[in-house]
Amino acid sequence: MQFIDLKTQYAHYQAEIDSRMQAVMEHGRFIMGPEIAECEQQLAEFAGVEHCISVASGTMSLEIALRALDIGPGDEVITTPFTWISSAEVIRLVGATPVFIDIEPTTFNLDLEQLEAAISAKTKAIMPISLFGQMPNFERLNEIAGAHNIPVLEDGAQSFGATQNGKQSCGVTTIGSTSFFPAKPLGCYGDGGALFTNDEQLATAMRAIRTHGGTKRHHHTLVGTNGRFDTLQAAVILAKLPHFANECSRRGEIGARYSSLLRDICQTPEVAPGNTHVYAQYTIRLENRDEIAAALKTSDIPTAVYYPKCLHEQPVFADLGYQYGNFPESERASKQVLSLPMHPFLAEKDQDSVVDALRNAITRSITS
Ligand SMILES: *Cc1c(COP(=O)(O)O)cnc(C)c1O
Repeated sequence: MQFIDLKTQYAHYQAEIDSRMQAVMEHGRFIMGPEIAECEQQLAEFAGVEHCISVASGTMSLEIALRALDIGPGDEVITTPFTWISSAEVIRLVGATPVFIDIEPTTFNLDLEQLEAAISAKTKAIMPISLFGQMPNFERLNEIAGAHNIPVLEDGAQSFGATQNGKQSCGVTTIGSTSFFPAKPLGCYGDGGALFTNDEQLATAMRAIRTHGGTKRHHHTLVGTNGRFDTLQAAVILAKLPHFANECSRRGEIGARYSSLLRDICQTPEVAPGNTHVYAQYTIRLENRDEIAAALKTSDIPTAVYYPKCLHEQPVFADLGYQYGNFPESERASKQVLSLPMHPFLAEKDQDSVVDALRNAITRSITS
């Protein structure tokens, strides 16, 4: 059994993917070929926003967003310490300071009760992470940010395709950012990502920064980078996108089935009111996580821990001055979370094997 099965997905869409990629090989415009604009237009439509700017990765996309917001030394960006390194890494990379607030234990998303108190005169952005595939309460979050006139950058690397009150992830904040890393809900066959906004000025700046800060050829107005999305990868996204809404529904159904089968033996993920969840990771909580994970391994059930260490515990952020104990919910989550095999092609019998193995491991650990 695979943790995420990309081979089965390829087998389903092979004809479309192959012919899309073949077309790129034939026209030969590997950098900023026609697939880029086509892909951006379809992604913007999917997310329900005016502008989409495709980029080289989800990390690059966050960095470009921060640069376009003119965030740098002396500025603070609020995020959580329970996320992938990229989220805080890019804040540092542009010279600004990450300010962490804890997560709420039910959704693993930033605890909005703590947001107001973390805002200072230096706060230049709030970066919520839509962790594991569902969005935080953006009505409330945008209200708090709006009252302070602070832009919101959603790190939707794991949540593309998720919705809140009918609106798509990456489409409800100043800027939305996602990743097309192969294992994400909408993955390409290498690195990739995209930025979304309704703000024309920000879109222009992000487009320019993506291509060396140039607004015209040989005319550079901003400090930019080489942050372009590959045409071949855009071809993969174009082939997968027509199936994506259906895959998101399958993800939701498979997640709900896991929860109904596991609810009595462990803590299953909660879907907040108004949300759909795309389960980039289907993540349960267990007091004796490491013991259960080891037992599952002997039954050949692949699992993963996202994230075994919080960002405030990482050596690279030691100088921020945080200590173990500062973010108890994040720290507790890092010891308890376990992600199970999850992808839109997960067969019921495989899911049943995961559930049985988990049930056996938990029963054995209670009786031993
Ligand atoms: C995957 C991920 C990223 C980075 O995306 P890449 O495309 O791998 O650079 C950023 N934030 C979160 C929360 C992620 O899960």
